[in-house]
Amino acid sequence: MGKTSKFGGYATANSEQIKKTAKIVLSDLTRKYAIVSAPGGEEKITDTLKNQANRVIAGEKYDPTIISNKFDAIQSGLGIHPVDVMTELERRLHEKDQDAARFSDKIMAYGEEANARIIAQYICEQGFEAEYVDPKEMGLLVTSSYGNAQPLPESYNNIRHALESKTRAIIPGFFGYTREGHIATFSRGGSDLTGAIVAAAMDSEVYENWKDVDGIGMANPKIVKKPKKIDFITYRELRELSYMGFGVFQEEATFPVAAKGIPIHLRNLEKPDTEGTHIVRYRMPRDDEIITGVSCKKGFCIIDLYKDLMNSEIGFLAKAAGIMEGYNLSIEHVASGIDSMSIIFEKKQLKNGTIDNLMHTLERELGAQLSEPSYDNALVCVVGLGMKQKPGVAGRVFGACCRAGINIEMINQGASEINITFGVKESSAEDAVREIYDEFVK
Ligand code: ASP
Repeated sequence: MGKTSKFGGYATANSEQIKKTAKIVLSDLTRKYAIVSAPGGEEKITDTLKNQANRVIAGEKYDPTIISNKFDAIQSGLGIHPVDVMTELERRLHEKDQDAARFSDKIMAYGEEANARIIAQYICEQGFEAEYVDPKEMGLLVTSSYGNAQPLPESYNNIRHALESKTRAIIPGFFGYTREGHIATFSRGGSDLTGAIVAAAMDSEVYENWKDVDGIGMANPKIVKKPKKIDFITYRELRELSYMGFGVFQEEATFPVAAKGIPIHLRNLEKPDTEGTHIVRYRMPRDDEIITGVSCKKGFCIIDLYKDLMNSEIGFLAKAAGIMEGYNLSIEHVASGIDSMSIIFEKKQLKNGTIDNLMHTLERELGAQLSEPSYDNALVCVVGLGMKQKPGVAGRVFGACCRAGINIEMINQGASEINITFGVKESSAEDAVREIYDEFVK
């Protein structure tokens, strides 16, 4: 039990922020597991470490001055007996590895490790108990896909045993160890995932995630100015919105906590008294609520196929899907008519020439006619538990787009009725989000 609290790069960017973080950790005795990021802010230490790693890989001389200046400034701002963090970093930089990705991870992970060691020392010097716990010590084992490691299932038991007896653990986010003992990082923003793994392992009552925003907005603030905050959202709603471009919480990080039904509480470090956003398994939509959020994602390619009597040809869809699989392309959506079908997929998957070969194969093996693929498509996703069984929602969504002169290219409503996804040209995507937000929220 106890709370697991994750503090992102903003919350650990400098000595002032670290003091606020420590105050929050210490203000509640049940905050037993604090996961911290590398110093963030304008100059992310993780990026600086990555640059240094790249220099070594390219055979150039490294220069860790920016990094040592950063940690010196943090330590003197905190007024602690300095922790030597640079000897270990220099040792790692010196020890070049044949495997560039593995070497890069070992260096990039050091921002969180050094910061966590310093924060633990600061809390101890304030007269409170706190212990730095390394992912190796707590048995956070991960796959060896460097830069995109995944936790191994045995990690959860290991972590539970390692942390059970601790009063207050300060844990670096973002990395674990492979079975062979190498450091491997999660994807960027991966401290969220470390927090989720610890929260799940410890059966925490809540997984707090401290950031620099009040919570999750109903739309991307880059598209809608000052969107209304979401108070409660389910994991599934968030998953739909995150996939479609909501960058508040690392996508993979919901899975370990959602599997256990542990609520996630997003909170603002600058306003600890405000409510933030609660991400939960179940919630009852308010009577006046229809949509929870709206987002969009660009970069989709659409291929249209035509064939007479397509609808009565058994196995047509399976064959088309098999061809896509053969080209290693994951399908996003399929929209079908009676004699036609559109396949929608992310165009970043296309390697040189793939589309030409793919088109020929589809044509030949399906006996279908194909039109010129279009490459400038976006998907807009309207999400909300409140939409379920409410008549007229789709009418209002498409009415709003129609009034703004936005052409809808494809429509897909999920069987769960908590999302309506539709395709528009990339140039209209942001307008569609604004129109729908105005229709339902303003
Ligand atoms: N420091 C890492 C990054 O910049 C991980 C994190 O902050 O979550 O991606």
